[in-house]
Amino acid sequence: MLSITNLKGVGTQLTKKLNQLGIYTVADLLFHLPYRYQDRTQIYPISQLQPGMHTLIEVEVVKQQIMFGKRRRLEVQLADSTGYIYMSLFNFSNAQRENLKTGTRLRCFGEVRILGKRLQMIHPEYQVERFSPEVETQTLTPIYPSTEGFSQKTWRMLITQAIDLQKSSRSIIDYLPDHPYSLLEALIYCHQPPNDADQNLLEERQHPAQQRLALEELLAHHLSRRKLREKIKQSLATPLPINSDLLNQFYKQLPFTLTNAQQRVLAEIFADLNQNHPMLRLLQGDVGSGKTIVAASAMFAAIANGFQAALMAPTEILAQQHFMHFKKYFSNENINVINLTSRMPAKEKRETLAHIENGTAHIIIGTHALIQNAVQFQHLGLVVIDEQHRFGVAQRLTLQAKGQSPHQLMMTATPIPRTLAMTLYADLDCSIIDELPPNRKPITTIALPNSKRDQVIEKIRNFCAQGQQVYWVCTLIEESEELTAQAATETLEKLSQSFPEFKIGLVHGQLKSQDKQAIMNAFKQNEIHLLVATTVIEVGVDVPNANLMVIENPERLGLAQLHQLRGRVGRGENASHCILLYQSPLSYNARARLDIMRNSTDGFEIAEKDLSIRGSGEFLGTKQSGELTFKIAHLSRDQDLIAEIQQLAEKITQHHPEHIEPLITRWLGNKMQYGVV
Ligand code: ADP
Ligand code: MG
Repeated sequence: MLSITNLKGVGTQLTKKLNQLGIYTVADLLFHLPYRYQDRTQIYPISQLQPGMHTLIEVEVVKQQIMFGKRRRLEVQLADSTGYIYMSLFNFSNAQRENLKTGTRLRCFGEVRILGKRLQMIHPEYQVERFSPEVETQTLTPIYPSTEGFSQKTWRMLITQAIDLQKSSRSIIDYLPDHPYSLLEALIYCHQPPNDADQNLLEERQHPAQQRLALEELLAHHLSRRKLREKIKQSLATPLPINSDLLNQFYKQLPFTLTNAQQRVLAEIFADLNQNHPMLRLLQGDVGSGKTIVAASAMFAAIANGFQAALMAPTEILAQQHFMHFKKYFSNENINVINLTSRMPAKEKRETLAHIENGTAHIIIGTHALIQNAVQFQHLGLVVIDEQHRFGVAQRLTLQAKGQSPHQLMMTATPIPRTLAMTLYADLDCSIIDELPPNRKPITTIALPNSKRDQVIEKIRNFCAQGQQVYWVCTLIEESEELTAQAATETLEKLSQSFPEFKIGLVHGQLKSQDKQAIMNAFKQNEIHLLVATTVIEVGVDVPNANLMVIENPERLGLAQLHQLRGRVGRGENASHCILLYQSPLSYNARARLDIMRNSTDGFEIAEKDLSIRGSGEFLGTKQSGELTFKIAHLSRDQDLIAEIQQLAEKITQHHPEHIEPLITRWLGNKMQYGVV
């Protein structure tokens, strides 16, 4: 394969950056696919603009004015022969202002919004006067997933070269030769759709060219998972039978009885644990459905058979909370529960590691710290991964490799439909908890603009005065935990002035683990009434007396994440509330997303709608992206492709097993480290 270093403009710096994204060859570039398109081939008259459109307009400045609201902004009234639109700039220089004099001609590209009754563009891209009379391109403009250090222009420069090279050499292999669309045709269409292409169809990823690629991508995922399953299922594991008397004793001391759904999934799990091949099971259940106790019961079976069991959670706060719960669940037994985090003091860590290695620790709970090299188990029989969508397959396999073919239980609150799960998690068997514990009160969700902050403050005051507790969540700023922590600290200061009568705590990712623990414990003990937090509390945290959550700037988060966060309330006997305190004006999409949150508390429904609005990954290499991210496949819209996948997989396995490996590498790169298995 031709290396990217053969392309013009690719020096050592750019090569390094591309390699970090898993792009090594010219072919890899061809599979870096756009996630949306812009139509810059046409100028729209203002009279035809609709909110939510991203369009090019050609206009003249009518007048400009500096507005002094909460934030100073420059408002420029623009017109063409069909109507008016307003452009708002929050950050602007004097030079910019002078450039936008009455009568100046502009070409703007941006999202159309409605504010008051006026059409608006906020911070559009614009060119003044000296634009060429023709519009720029013959094809729709592709927008690529990107990351720091890459501009869209760079991506286009690279990919155009890659396509030209491919047109002459035709070196990539078409593994689906029976498909009406050839691979090369499909790739070219996706990177360079003609200007008369149906943009809606493209954005929905339903064009046959895109479907051709999506099919291949889904197939590659499916094949990689099948391969993984085969490998693991071939190995021998020690069966972990559990005696029902022992189990009932364990259940008896719990503060609740298990729901039917919990009992059903436990039966499925125990049946697996009885086999002499490793269990590979995914436990799905909405936020709050009670997955933790199911995991604890399975771990109990491992301990009863003389093995160790490990549980890995994505955050320190969650690991700590599991640790507290498990210590309680196992207090009557002679079972030693320990917690390992990466930021423990050195001495404590050494001791903990020794307990894990010599077997005096039975249940080991921890964060990613569990997969470090230094961690060695004496006799690991069961691995549980909580919130598995937050971990990659490689991490899961690393933990698994620390035992002799241990049984594996993965848990997730990010539900996906069953056929989809069977295809995409083809390595896993699936169990679903489809019932919440009794007496849960529904969560009421409202969305309020930031201007109603005072109202929110009063609501919090009422809540705290009644002895209930409140979360105030500050969302991530520009992917920077530091900035976010800073913003949360400022929020704390402001809120402290509003609530001199209550105790307020602060927790964020920059704190030391002990400090985080101390605060979470104090909140749990109701010593803190209002907890200001970043999204570090997103998963798992369980404080039943906290019944109100305020989420600031919810428009910054995806729906799945909002649902997870909101799942922190509604855990007790009281009615619960969630206030989405947004920054207006909202984009069209953001408003649609908040509406979904207001109208549903069903994780399945929200996940479905989230997929249909958001599509797959817009950002490269963000921490949010779990393992199921796709370049082009679209989980909810490509359901009919899913039906074909299993058959295609059979066919390729029978007739062209030699295609399997290159097909997986093409779409998944080196994400899957089989070497570890
Ligand atoms: P999740 O599925 O989100 O991980 P958890 O395991 O944290 O949910 O459980 C949520 C809450 O429900 C916890 O407070 C837990 O103690 C409680 N819970 C779990 N199972 C039951 C049950 N069968 N009856 C009553 N409460 C339960
Ligand atoms: Mg949980």
